[in-house]
This record gives sequence, C-alpha cells and structure tokens, in this order.
Amino acid sequence: MRNPRRPRSDRARPPRPDRRAPEELAPPRPTSRRAANGVEWLPIPGWDLPWLWAGFSTRKGGVSRAYCAGNAPGELNLGFTEGDHRANVLRNRRLLAEAVTGNARTPILALRQFHSNLVVDATPSDALRPAPRRADGQITAGPGLLLAVETADCIPVLVADRRQRIVAAFHAGWRGAAKRIVETGVGRMRLLYGSRPRDLIAAIGPGASACCYAVGEELFSEFESQFSYAPDLFHEVFSSDPIKTKYPMLFLTQRAPGHSPLGPSLHADLVQANRRQLLDCGLSPRSIQIVGGCTQCQQDLFFSHRASHGHTGRMMAVIGIREAGKARSRRPELRLDSADSMASLNDAFAARFCSPAV
Ligand SMILES: [Zn+2]
Repeated sequence: MRNPRRPRSDRARPPRPDRRAPEELAPPRPTSRRAANGVEWLPIPGWDLPWLWAGFSTRKGGVSRAYCAGNAPGELNLGFTEGDHRANVLRNRRLLAEAVTGNARTPILALRQFHSNLVVDATPSDALRPAPRRADGQITAGPGLLLAVETADCIPVLVADRRQRIVAAFHAGWRGAAKRIVETGVGRMRLLYGSRPRDLIAAIGPGASACCYAVGEELFSEFESQFSYAPDLFHEVFSSDPIKTKYPMLFLTQRAPGHSPLGPSLHADLVQANRRQLLDCGLSPRSIQIVGGCTQCQQDLFFSHRASHGHTGRMMAVIGIREAGKARSRRPELRLDSADSMASLNDAFAARFCSPAV
C-alpha cells in the first residue's frame, strides 16, 4: 500500500536538463558569402531555388561605424539603433538588398518588433507605408520584395512553400518561442494560402546559442508548463576550463555569493525550441536547415545584444520571391549612387521606424 505521506524527496520529479560543457553546445561557424559590394551574408545550404531569395546578414560589410573600432572597416548595422546614423542604416539596407537580390532598390519590409506571436500578411504595397507594421512575423505571396526580421541574439526563422511560392519570416527569441510564433506563423500560411507541411522548407538563422544563452530557472518553468519536451531545450552547463577546475578559488569572486565557482548555469537552446515547433507543424527533419553560428561567442561575425550590453547593431534575416521574368544576376553590380538618388522604397518605408526588439 502506498504511503500517502512519503517525503517530498521520494516523489517522482520532473526530468531535469542534462549536464554539458559549453564546448559541446557551440555550433559550427557558418560559411559566409562575400558579395561584390563587400557585404558578407549567409546563404541557406540547399535553397538554390530559382524563384527564391533568402539569407541572413552578418555584421561584415556596410558603412556603419557606430559599433566598431576606429580603424576597422564599416559594418552592416541594419536597425535604426540609437548609436547609428539613419543614413548609414538606409545605405546598409540597400547594400544587403543588392547582395541578396542583385538590385539595391529591392524593397526590404522590416517590422516594428515587440516579442509577440503576431504574424501579418504582407503585400508589395506595404513598402509604401509611412511606418512599419507592428508584428514579429510576416508572410507574403507578392514578388519583388524582401520580408525581414531584425535580430541581435533572438532567433530568425525563414519558411518557404516550394509548391505555391509563399514566403515567411519570423522573429523567435525566447518570448516568441514561448508564445509559439513559428507554429502560429505556419498555421497562418495554411489558413491563408492552403500551404501543405510537406511543401514547406525552413531555415533557422544565427542567434544566441545554447553554448552561451544563460537563463534563469523561471524561464525553464515557463517552458516546462507548456512544452512536454522542455527538458530537451535546456542544459546545465559547467565550465570545462582546466585552469578553473584546478584552481577554483581564483575564480570565486566571479560568481554571486552562494554559487559554486564552477557552475552550473542553466542554458536555453532556442534553435532547438524553434526546430521542435517546425517539426510539430509537420515539416520533415530534412526540410529544416540550421544555418549555425552563435551571436554571443562569434562577435567578429555577428552583433550580440547580450554580449555588448545593449550597445550594438542589428542583423536581418530576409526572404523574398523573385519577380517573374527577371533573370538571376550572377554578378551583382554596385550602383548605389543611382539608387540613392531615387529615394528608394526602403527610405519611404523606414521614414518613421522605431528601434526594434532584438
Ligand atoms: Zn556561444
């Protein structure tokens, strides 16, 4: 007969995250492509579809000098952040559009992001809006524009419907993942366009990776309350630094009182969180590309809000549908002067843009 008053320690406990060293969790450094205009961006392996534009920016290339050393070349800040000049950001956006589409005047539709699960249906006319729409995801069937989400640690997710030529971009940090923005967004693709999961491909871009993304217990509790697989998304991470292991007293002052000098700290894996949501939407594992990269420990390649204590730029994940009849440009031309003088759609669209969520 069961003892109803058995001590608490004997009761079945929910599974805890496994224990790992940070090196085990570090993603490989992705391979970037350098465009003729100097922009380094990440194409998506296997996504060489003739009708599709897609990729993730890095911080390399561009004309911003707000977040780099004095003698460094300019950087590709794509967000209207406090520290940067608006003209630099607009020029950087045109450089990215040119690198990805071959045309600096391809409009980039950004959003006013606020860590929600709101996903909007975008059309080419949205490029003429005086201010960006307030949302964290967007879908379009309209050709000739790039949907964008901005990040600097959060996870960007791009989705394309190969059969119907529909594209979507989602901003999925921990708040967005907890609110199931990817599941919500794919659901809207199905509702609005009849997308079938077997026709969808997805790419998960660079963000703060499990090697670095330390979080509090309350985040684990929040995920555990609504995802049965939550323990798979977290790790208890110990330092495997041999110096720290041998001389722990030297590092005592680096941790808060009451904590052991060697950890553990709880780390979240937001890439896996979003991958699980894509799988739950019915995508097959092989249709999901994880581009890799960690914004926190690969700062030469990426902007990181956490690692820079908030003083940093923004990257963009972009996806779009090539206009029918327009041949793919093999060697993008650098024609910024003419693009500048035409008061591009990007400028009009960005006229009253606010500093975005990261
Ligand atoms: Zn890292």
